[in-house]
This record gives sequence, C-alpha cells and structure tokens, in this order.
Amino acid sequence: MTHVDTLGRPLRNLRISVTDRCNLRCQYCMPEEEYVWLPREDLLTFEEVSALVDVFADLGVDKVRLTGGEPLLRRDLPRLVRLLAAKPRIRDLAITTNGVLLAEQARALYEAGLHRVTVSLDTLRPERFKALTRRDTHARVLEGIQEVQRLGWKGLKLDSVVVRGTNDDELLDLIAYGKRTGAEVRFIEYMDVGGATLWSMDKVISRTEILARVEGRYGKIEPVIDESTAPADRYILPDGTIFGIISSTTAPFCRSCDRSRLTADGMWYLCLYAKTGTDLRGPLRAGASPDALKSFIVPTWQRRADRGAEERLALVDRTPLVQIGELKKDPHLEMHTRGG
Ligand code: SAM
Ligand code: SF4
Ligand code: SF4
Repeated sequence: MTHVDTLGRPLRNLRISVTDRCNLRCQYCMPEEEYVWLPREDLLTFEEVSALVDVFADLGVDKVRLTGGEPLLRRDLPRLVRLLAAKPRIRDLAITTNGVLLAEQARALYEAGLHRVTVSLDTLRPERFKALTRRDTHARVLEGIQEVQRLGWKGLKLDSVVVRGTNDDELLDLIAYGKRTGAEVRFIEYMDVGGATLWSMDKVISRTEILARVEGRYGKIEPVIDESTAPADRYILPDGTIFGIISSTTAPFCRSCDRSRLTADGMWYLCLYAKTGTDLRGPLRAGASPDALKSFIVPTWQRRADRGAEERLALVDRTPLVQIGELKKDPHLEMHTRGG
C-alpha cells in the first residue's frame, strides 16, 4: 500500500546506515579526526533491521540502500544482506561504500544476494586521495572496483563529489575510468549537509559548469530521458558513454524525493537536512508489534513536508548547515551518522 506525504511523495526508498564509523576522513564529510560515536549497545541488530524493513515494505518501500559511515566496517554485513535479499518485495538492494574493504568482501556480498554496488571515488590520484581522506588506501579502492568487475557484477556506479580546487580537474579522467571499468560515473554537487563544516558555495561546481566542461571535451551531450525518481540526471556522450549528475545543491530534486533514512541506532529521518528524527529503536525494543510501529510511521510520513535542499537554495547567505560545536553535541546531525 502506498502512503504519500503532504507533497504527494510516496514512501518508497529507505537508506539504512549500518554504522556511523568510518575508515576515511573525507574533507567534505568528516574533516575532524575524532568524533562522538553512537554507543554500541544502541546499534540495531541485523534482526531488528530486518524486522523494520518488513514494516517499511508493508508500507510500500521497495528500494533499500545500505550506507554509513562505512558500511563494510559493520561486522558480518553479508549476513544482513542475506536477510534483506530474501525479501522479494525489496526489488532493489544496493550499497554505497568507500571501497576500501571491498576487494575482500565483494564476493561474499555478491553471493549473499546484494543487487548493486556504488563506490565513492573522487580521484584517480593516490596522493590526492590521501590529502582528501587522510588515509593512504587509494590502491585498495581501485582493487575493490576491479574485484566487482572480475565477479561480472552488473550495475556498478562510481560517485564523485566534485569540489572546486580539489578534484574538479578530473571530470574527464573519471568519465574515462568509468568507461574502462564498465561503471556509470555520477558527479555529486558538494552539499552543505551536517558534517560538511568546510563547505562554502564557491567550492560547489554546479551541474551547469560540469556539463560545460564535459561538453568542451566531448561535444554535444544529450540528456537521457527516464522516468525514475533516482536523484541523478543522466547524460549520454556522442560515443555512447552515460554519466550522471546529482545536482542536490543548485537544482535539488526534493519534489520527487521518496527517500527516508534509518540510522544505525534506529532513528528515522525524513530528509537529509532534517534537524530531528523519530526513534524506532525504543518502541521496537519495548516490544511494539509491526502494526503498532506502522500506526506511527504512517502519520509521520503523511505529515512530511521536508524540502531541505530547496529551502537551503532559497537562502541568501549560505553557510554550513551545522557548526562544529553543535555537531559535537549531537552526532545525529552528522552525514556519516545519517548515511548519505
Ligand atoms: N562511506 C560510504 C561512502 O563514502 O561511500 C557511504 C556513506 S557516505 C556519507 C555516502 C555518500 O555521501 C558518499 O558518496 C559521499 O561522497 C557523499 N557525501 C558525503 N558528504 C558529502 C557532501 N558534503 N556533499 C556531497 N556528497 C557527500
Ligand atoms: Fe568519506 Fe563516506 Fe567516510 Fe564520509 S562516510 S568520510 S564520505 S568514506
Ligand atoms: Fe529529499 Fe531532503 Fe534531499 Fe530534498 S533535501 S532531496 S527532501 S532528502
């Protein structure tokens, strides 16, 4: 059964953060070395995640993406994948990973029934990767991508956050790399989400600018027309290569946003920019039945009016959403807690 919010958007897409921890420190997400982590005992068990996914599936969710933090840090993740892959109503089960641990885990995830992988890859240059992430593990990410190819695993995507002065000279190289590896590259505009304390508008490379740069090299680019509510606008180059742009900052897609987010400790957020969420762990652990959970999930969704990125766009003086002091007090405001 479909439930729609105040803007007629269905509840269809659930992003599940399985851990808030990460083995990288990307400048645009976790620029600090130390963070306040969620208490381990608060993390949902795989059985609890599975039970919540059943509840959401009853309410119309058919797409699930595992994310984090770094989801591959969650011990025994293939077991969760197996639980979720066994649900026929979840017709799309994907993961977003930084790829560092992918080479060693890809086969187990594939065999557990994970449908698709998206690897975040912002640069092809090891030194730049080190500067951007504070870790020297670029080669392992590329090995992870190769392992996905070796398995013949279809549907690989490579997501690159484009930051002016950091990696914006690599757009064409990344497209060429995607072509070589059979992956669709998607450029993401730098967002001023929680965690992105170094964000400023002048570091954002807009969709318009990305298109102009790519067109300068490849010639005329045509949009690919599709009906999906996926955040990426897709484009095709004269040689047939397809790439995407997620223009969350300069041309947000809130109007068709069917996504909500579950944190590793069971908080449910209706928008990446939402300041507050709904605790599902409490009622679940107190023994609430699936129907009882539905009886407050449904009205919460029906009241949803979030248009976070569109509201940010309307601001004249735009600075990072949350300042570091506030983030330290409430880790739930962090992108790495909420899952991107
Ligand atoms: N650690 C995993 C990874 O990096 O793929 C999954 C979690 S990460 C928060 C999910 C996605 O959010 C990544 O593709 C990352 O590049 C993106 N992201 C993080 N901070 C961002 C920002 N400030 N603007 C745009 N995208 C961002
Ligand atoms: Fe980077 Fe993802 Fe870790 Fe954030 S959660 S620091 S984007 S690898
Ligand atoms: Fe959806 Fe919020 Fe992102 Fe808009 S800002 S697309 S409503 S998650």
